[in-house]
Amino acid sequence: MANQFLVLSNPVSISRSSSIYVKGKEQWLGCCASKTKPMHPWLSNGCRARASLNAVEIPRQWYNLIADLPVKPPPPLHPKTLQPIKPEDLSPLFPDELIKQEASNDRFIDIPDEVLEIYKLWRPTPLIRAKRLEKILDTPARIYYKYEGISPAGSHKPNTAVPQVYYNAKQGVKNVVTETGAGQWGSSLAFACSLFDIDCEVWQVRASYDQKPYRRLMMQTWGAKVHPSPSNITEAGRKILEADPSSPGSLGIAISEAVEVAATNADTKYCLGSVLNHVLLHQTVIGEECIKQMESIGETPDLIIGCIGGGSNFAGLTFPFIREKLKGKINPVIRAVEPAACPSITKGLYAYDYGDTAGMTPLMKMHTLGHNFIPDPIHAGGLRYHGMAPLISHVYELGFMEAISIPQTECFQSAIRFARSEGLIAAPEPTHAIAATIREALQCKESGDAKVILMAMCGHGHFDLTSYETYLQGNLVDLSFSEESIRESLAKIPLVVA
Ligand SMILES: *Cc1c(COP(=O)(O)O)cnc(C)c1O
Repeated sequence: MANQFLVLSNPVSISRSSSIYVKGKEQWLGCCASKTKPMHPWLSNGCRARASLNAVEIPRQWYNLIADLPVKPPPPLHPKTLQPIKPEDLSPLFPDELIKQEASNDRFIDIPDEVLEIYKLWRPTPLIRAKRLEKILDTPARIYYKYEGISPAGSHKPNTAVPQVYYNAKQGVKNVVTETGAGQWGSSLAFACSLFDIDCEVWQVRASYDQKPYRRLMMQTWGAKVHPSPSNITEAGRKILEADPSSPGSLGIAISEAVEVAATNADTKYCLGSVLNHVLLHQTVIGEECIKQMESIGETPDLIIGCIGGGSNFAGLTFPFIREKLKGKINPVIRAVEPAACPSITKGLYAYDYGDTAGMTPLMKMHTLGHNFIPDPIHAGGLRYHGMAPLISHVYELGFMEAISIPQTECFQSAIRFARSEGLIAAPEPTHAIAATIREALQCKESGDAKVILMAMCGHGHFDLTSYETYLQGNLVDLSFSEESIRESLAKIPLVVA
């Protein structure tokens, strides 16, 4: 199994060979003529052996960008005292090891062997050259994508679900609770819990609970209990339902519910699928692998593109590249893409705000649309978060990355082109990255610039086909983003001078 993935994990070396040895199979064989052993039937030439030789190993350490930043990010504040939070403030919610990682200044943190063993189920993930997409766009750009959809849950989220559950299990925790937007995080956590025999309870945002029954069934298959959010089970949920019985929910509300349950039950801890430093840290396996994969084929990205909700898949791919950029080794443009209907970086304030709707979390300095903001129920449920990872917000303020927003119809249009050239059906979230990549590739066509574009393809959309149905039937619309509702919600951000 692991071997099979190792071989699959480096198709890049195959495509590169094919671009050098352009004239057909004889020359293909030439690229590894010295190793003409009998080959696997689906690749009937020696290049398969070459591919496996070039396959990278899973990194043994996560990378912490904070260690290399010229200015440290502003600390999270206690919501009552407005003083920087202390580790013990977080211990009702998280196990000690994750609290340590959250505040760590160490450059590298070892990945425990038990976690590495589980990563081997799907890592290293493939880096793929999008040759067929390049061809239909008629672009001189070379487009690569790092594909995280081969994990059991179908996205990058298990990269952090597994270590989070591992550290909880190691500390003897028996139950974890969480929220989920599109259902990707809930299913990843449910999967990880099933491996460590921990009970898992998930509050799923109402809009996606109704749109995506199969994500709920995945969670239940892995043994988790799932509630639509807002629910009647928590104080936070009941308050929202009183005000609006048909509330579509939001990540902020679902976080309030899960945090409330963890804070009021001694045997229960909380897990978060994005936003926090330790989550971004765990995701850096993506970028570390990708750096080696690109090196092994002699490519350097000019532009790295990823979609951004809370920021974890984007940080996971880009932070190791930002390290190399800070060292002066490479100089890629780093571009985050958010939905036009929930544009926290491009339209939000950079201010201290709560991570949840009820105001139970620490105050974090981040780009925010206001913790009361309930985004329209766009199809990319994983991008419907009012805030942004504080670390990404800080990196953005330091000028190491840029951000744009794209409306969902352009995203789905682009995803269809991607599906019909590269074959993969993207989750609604990475359709934003695909749209931005296609925009750039078409600009390259105009300018004749042969840029190397690296894209984060963070998950497949096999359980999001109702969104595709809406698009294919011509019913997908761009939800206008209301300046007024954002102004209203921004007016309710707590006033913290910092
Ligand atoms: C959760 C999710 C996202 C959004 O979260 P980030 O932390 O911004 O990565 C994006 N894509 C997929 C496939 C997801 O599951």
